[in-house]
Amino acid sequence: MKNIVDSIAASRDITLDQLKTLLAATDDEAVNYLFSRALETCRSVYGNAVFMRGLIELSNHCKNDCLYCGIRRSHTSVTRYRLTKEQVLECCSTGHGLGFRTFVLQGGEDGWYTDAVMVDIVASIRSQYSDCAITLSLGERSRESYQRLFDAGANRYLLRHETANAAHYASLHPAEMSFDNRMRCLQELKEIGYQVGCGFMVGSPGQTPETLFDDLQFIRCFEPQMVGIGPFIPASGTPFENEPAGSVETTLRLLAIIRLMNPRVLLPATTALGTMHPRGRERGILAGANVVMPNLSPKDHRKDYALYDNKLCTGDEAAECRVCLDRRIRTTGSQLVVDRGDYRK
Ligand code: SAM
Repeated sequence: MKNIVDSIAASRDITLDQLKTLLAATDDEAVNYLFSRALETCRSVYGNAVFMRGLIELSNHCKNDCLYCGIRRSHTSVTRYRLTKEQVLECCSTGHGLGFRTFVLQGGEDGWYTDAVMVDIVASIRSQYSDCAITLSLGERSRESYQRLFDAGANRYLLRHETANAAHYASLHPAEMSFDNRMRCLQELKEIGYQVGCGFMVGSPGQTPETLFDDLQFIRCFEPQMVGIGPFIPASGTPFENEPAGSVETTLRLLAIIRLMNPRVLLPATTALGTMHPRGRERGILAGANVVMPNLSPKDHRKDYALYDNKLCTGDEAAECRVCLDRRIRTTGSQLVVDRGDYRK
């Protein structure tokens, strides 16, 4: 198996057979070799820095009905909220004081945040925090809308492709959502000049080694600056509430493979990984991840942005999360840094 790891590192590519072997491997020594090569690859580009992104959960209103998501439109027992510009700026102020130099505005697809509203929010953050990167994660919008937000000062956009297999995509989403439109959005974001993040859930219902292979090949060809992957975790009240959660071990192996195939990519150790295992994020860092995204959202609303059950840190203050993560990351030999954490070309 070590020869497979060496071959992926050298070619920055993988075959379906190699992927199947790595996913099925039971030899601890070989799996640890995969993780240590990925860690070494990450450190050769970014040293032992781990970048922080302050996550601001803008709204849990959503017009979409993704079958996996806890804030899907049909989930009627969700208490819905929206943050105002003033609340967002308050989160940024707290975050900046804690050393955050990237703010991620994420939310459901909520028509209340028209281009005019979003441009005002983005431009206000840009004028007050010229030393910070602004990342948006607001789902599918028109090319014109992406362009306006970019012109207002946004630098990065996260839009997970969810799966690069069109039939699998159709089984995770309602008929009115389309794989082609998702791909159109990703392509346009890149053309406009955003640093773009794609990604997928590990263990989503219907996922197979073949669909994962499609994901890895899509990422290799698309060359995103960021890749967000984390385990699927069932959310009560959704059609997938009784489906099994994705595996932490598989997520770690995929993080390592993605790092070996894309040495420069910015790769978060996600909250979902931390939710599934008490040391999930630390293990993610040791498998080649180099980003963490603690929550800066107002404490009152955190429990309502429940994409899945038992989400981590919903009761903590931002400052508590910062201190806790700092301690956790140090145990890996890496350290949180006060830095925008841009993609290194
Ligand atoms: N609406 C935006 C979008 O579609 O990109 C951003 C918000 S969306 C809730 C953010 C991500 O949460 C999705 O891309 C999805 O991969 C992840 N997610 C949703 N439900 C999940 C679940 N049950 N388990 C793990 N991740 C989930």
